[in-house]
This record gives sequence, C-alpha cells and structure tokens, in this order.
Amino acid sequence: MKILIVEDETLLAESLKTLLEAKGYETDVVYDGKSGLEYAGLGIYDLVILDVMLPELDGFQVAKRLRAAKCGTPILMLTARSGLEDRIEGLDAGADYYLAKPFDSRELLACVNALLRRQGSQVDELTFGNTTLDLSSGTLICGKENIRLSAKEFEIIRLLFRNPARNLS
Ligand code: CA
Repeated sequence: MKILIVEDETLLAESLKTLLEAKGYETDVVYDGKSGLEYAGLGIYDLVILDVMLPELDGFQVAKRLRAAKCGTPILMLTARSGLEDRIEGLDAGADYYLAKPFDSRELLACVNALLRRQGSQVDELTFGNTTLDLSSGTLICGKENIRLSAKEFEIIRLLFRNPARNLS
C-alpha cells in the first residue's frame, strides 16, 4: 500500500511519514499543492493525505482537479480549519474524509485503514476497452486469453488503466 502525503508543515509531514511507515505503508511526501496534484495524478497511490492550506494550490483545488481528471484515489483531507463550511467544501471538492488538526495519531490510522479497506473492496478489477485487469491475481484478461503479469508489468498496466485519458512518460 502506497500513500502520498501532501503537507507543507515539514515536521508534521515527517511525523506522518514515520507513523505510516511504522505500520508498513510506503509513503511519498510533497510540500505544495502543485506537486501534490502531479504526484497524485500518477495513479500509483492507494490513498492521498491532503492538507488544505498549501502553497501553490490549496487542498480544495487539488481534490477538485483530481476528481475532474477522473482520479478515484481516496483522499483524506487534513486541516487546521475545522468549521462546518470548510468540512463541507472539502467533501464537495471530492475528499472522502476530513480530519481536523490537531488529531490523535490513532484516529488518523483508523481513518487510513477504513479508507484503504473501502478502496480494496470496491476496486478489484480495472477495465479498458475489451481488456480487464484483475487486481487480486495480477491477470490481464481479453476474451478467452489471459496472461499472468510480472510485478513490473502489473504496475505499468495498472497505471495505464487508471489513467486512460492521459499520456504518461
Ligand atoms: Ca498547511
């Protein structure tokens, strides 16, 4: 499981990284909204932890643009702003859950687990045209043909299938 952390407060970003890696998750950290949008758009993450107050682009904008680009990765929004209006704006922008700072690390981990579980049970295959990728077995199926992919092939095909409308380098 790979998690993207978009947080401009270096100390908080580091402690999130440490916390999640201790639980066995792989993490990448970026410190502004523009990089967050680029990284999250790659489609290689199982979850994005997204701060709201960010340089370049705020978290609401990042979430909106990701959803507009048909990126379905779950988003856990993290912010010091805990007013009702902000929570609603975050959810409207496409966040799946909203956690106000300061939060308890156990609460954060519970949210992460819940969102990842939901993601796992919802998406067990990806389809493009007449071809289906079975995510649980790593098999590519087209009509009667099916191919068991290597780990690298699986990562590449999954990335392409999750971003059908984009050119990827
Ligand atoms: Ca911030």
